[in-house]
Amino acid sequence: MTIARNALLWISENRKLRETLPQYKFIRRAVSRFMPGEELVDALGAAEKLKSKSIKTIFTKLGENITDAAEADETVKHYTDALTHIEQRDLDGYVSVKPTQLGLDLDEGLCYRNLETIVKRAHELGNWVWIDMEQSAYVDRTLRLYSRIRSSFPNVGLCLQAYLYRTEKDLGDLLPLSPAIRLVKGAYMEPHNVAFPRKADVDANFFQLSKILLQNIPRGVTFGVATHDKALVSRIRWEAERLGVSKDQYEYQLLFGIQVEEQERLAKEGFRVRSLISYGSYWFPWYVRRLAERPANVFFVLRNLLRF
Ligand SMILES: Cc1cc2nc3c(=O)[nH]c(=O)nc-3n(C[C@H](O)[C@H](O)[C@H](O)COP(=O)(O)OP(=O)(O)OC[C@H]3O[C@@H](n4cnc5c(N)ncnc54)[C@H](O)[C@@H]3O)c2cc1C
Repeated sequence: MTIARNALLWISENRKLRETLPQYKFIRRAVSRFMPGEELVDALGAAEKLKSKSIKTIFTKLGENITDAAEADETVKHYTDALTHIEQRDLDGYVSVKPTQLGLDLDEGLCYRNLETIVKRAHELGNWVWIDMEQSAYVDRTLRLYSRIRSSFPNVGLCLQAYLYRTEKDLGDLLPLSPAIRLVKGAYMEPHNVAFPRKADVDANFFQLSKILLQNIPRGVTFGVATHDKALVSRIRWEAERLGVSKDQYEYQLLFGIQVEEQERLAKEGFRVRSLISYGSYWFPWYVRRLAERPANVFFVLRNLLRF
């Protein structure tokens, strides 16, 4: 399983394959399982359907590692417009951005200014912006961006990854800011000196970090439990009950198209559930990371190859 995961993560970061593989129709067909379409309007339509099932949304336009400041400007414009559309359709839908999509590889100051423009617009509309966490080489810079923006705006959250050894310390350093944290396991290929290689250790760290987050909710911490792992979801739910944290004081965040029944079940039980909808034409690396999370997904791709 680890070999398949590593092979897929290697493919997701290979420049040549990123350019050629998305041209194949069978791969394009397979991706539709996780993505309602390439345009914002597709994502908005999907969010309206989820709303009828009491599931809230996070919108994210796929894209990363941009190499041109003009591309970052376009991303900023896209998100500020998207926030207006979300408002007009009366959706409870945050947006989530990747720092390298806002120019972090070019210049940290530029990335901060771009982020600030989006966060400001969200603040005017009473909405929120979440910051994704990318590969470990970006963690220090992303934490700096977050600490800086969070000291000026309350409506911004950050993703932390349970597979990194450093995350418990990072979380401790952020706690004085009463941060908003989306906790995930982590989706990238990381060396063993940086991230737990064993899934069991990642899961244990996820629970340990969740306990810290739940304990700090009364002190203003916002907690998004972002996993499809049903065992962890149950353990966190019982831990929250034990600590007297009510269902509306934290939320479960899952990816569009994954564990759909679980999303609906949690919403029916009265938990806050948010589905992250990705869209955009630059879906290949993101999609291969989804395959790496469950290499059995590769069979869906192959099934699409055999359909024609
Ligand atoms: C809302 C949200 C935001 C995220 N943001 C980030 C981020 O900013 N940075 C980052 O590094 N990672 C991010 N991730 C991805 C995350 O790190 C994991 O890679 C991903 O969630 C899979 O891990 P898991 O917690 O679901 O647990 P796993 O142990 O991987 O999965 C548990 C079970 O869920 C199901 N499952 C999980 N993934 C899939 C899949 N792709 N297809 C089908 N079934 C699946 C399977 O049944 C699996 O057994 C995000 C995830 C979510 C839900």
